[in-house]
Amino acid sequence: MEGCIFCKIVRKEIPARIAAENSLVLAFYDVNPQAPVHILVIPKEHISSVLEIKENHQEVLSQMILLAKRIAKQEGVDQSGFRLVFNCGADAGQAVDHLHLHLLGKRRLGWPPG
Ligand code: AMP
Repeated sequence: MEGCIFCKIVRKEIPARIAAENSLVLAFYDVNPQAPVHILVIPKEHISSVLEIKENHQEVLSQMILLAKRIAKQEGVDQSGFRLVFNCGADAGQAVDHLHLHLLGKRRLGWPPG
């Protein structure tokens, strides 16, 4: 999508520190990390939010979770623990309208989240 910042990262029009990538999914380090490990896993295709997920997105969604699991190992948080989060809508604080899975770890994460 033309004006979408994450689509621009996918098209390499703006820089990002890439953590991993495959044909469907891109993972990059969050520019404003909320934990020592904070990586965003996104579909290369523009999907605005969890509300826009359709039946035909099953492959890309499973790829996102599998890649997050691989990155958790790569970042050394698979044994200590980590959190995967989708924010959806205003109350959840979704700021970028391109589906993204937050991978957070390497610190004790509070529950319930703020
Ligand atoms: P959310 O609040 O769930 O929409 O999260 C959006 C996330 O995207 C925030 O954690 C931001 O710090 C992050 N973010 C925004 N722009 C960039 C960027 N250009 N590169 C990396 N992370 C970004």
